[in-house]
Amino acid sequence: MTPTRVTPTFSFEFFPPKTDKGERTLWDAIRRVEALGPDFVSVTYGAGGSSRERTVEVTKRIAAETTLRPVAHLTAVGHSVAELRHIIGQYADAGVRDVLVLRGDPPGDPMGPWTPHPEGFTYAHELVELVRSLGDFRIGVAAFPERHPRSPDWESEIRHFVAKCAAGADYAITQMFFDPEDYLRLRDRVAAAGCDTPIIPEIMPATDVRQIRRFAELSGAAFPEDLAHRLEAAKDDPARAHRIGVEHATAMAERLLAEGAPGLHYITLNKSTATVEIHRNVLNSPATNPRSTPHVLAAAR
Ligand code: FAD
Repeated sequence: MTPTRVTPTFSFEFFPPKTDKGERTLWDAIRRVEALGPDFVSVTYGAGGSSRERTVEVTKRIAAETTLRPVAHLTAVGHSVAELRHIIGQYADAGVRDVLVLRGDPPGDPMGPWTPHPEGFTYAHELVELVRSLGDFRIGVAAFPERHPRSPDWESEIRHFVAKCAAGADYAITQMFFDPEDYLRLRDRVAAAGCDTPIIPEIMPATDVRQIRRFAELSGAAFPEDLAHRLEAAKDDPARAHRIGVEHATAMAERLLAEGAPGLHYITLNKSTATVEIHRNVLNSPATNPRSTPHVLAAAR
């Protein structure tokens, strides 16, 4: 029997802005993305303070004022279990049923010593169990194609990832990466461990070499030297750098879908231009075309 191929999802990630101007840019991007009819959009959770309240506000507003399905990122950093329960309750009240559950990193230095809140959690799987116990949420977790920077080896990485899925995750989204082979190897390792949780690759358009190098450093992702050289050579020509980044991300997205990836999650940095362009390329590619209905193709133009 031929296996049924599920239509890949596509989704976009935003972050809570700090200023009124940033808020306007965010909402322009949200409205552009809304016209494409994505499966969901997600809003990242900050390291602390007011950016966290803004995550809750933006996520609730997306639920109330758009046709989009918002996914709230939530981390365990600096929160007691009681506080986490309160935030999850706020989402449930606002009709938000999707949470991307993360452990988070120490504020200031992602690789600094991790100290859990005295009444909080140490690992993401504990927060998955809490969210699962509080209602009918759709739960996502993080996956790392190049291994989590704190994991000593692949054996423990995969064991902990599988345990996190078994705790109640419905799907995973990866950290950014720039070589599709890394994703495919991770997927094979997870499958070999008997876990079939869908892993959605994250697509980060590399259009600004300095910015991407900084993100890659923070996340532990390797940035390919040939791509870095091409972007360096185009650093005084933003239009060319943009084209290079979009072409690289498009090729990656096409390869991933051709290899059966269950979706694509685009990092927008609150500017939709590059990601919408990549998505339009993917939609128009005869090799991968995840949504070939005339309606969506028309909306993407
Ligand atoms: P865990 O799954 O808890 O893993 C952390 C480390 O502990 C890993 O090395 C793991 O192997 C190990 N481990 C897990 N369980 C055990 C155990 N039982 N015993 C021993 N070791 C164990 N951060 C933010 O602050 N805000 C965001 O919005 C955000 N969004 C993200 C979105 C995506 C798609 C991704 C991939 C990451 C995101 N992050 C975000 C970053 C994330 O919080 C960090 O990468 C963090 O270091 C790991 O989180 P985790 O949920 O994978 O943690």
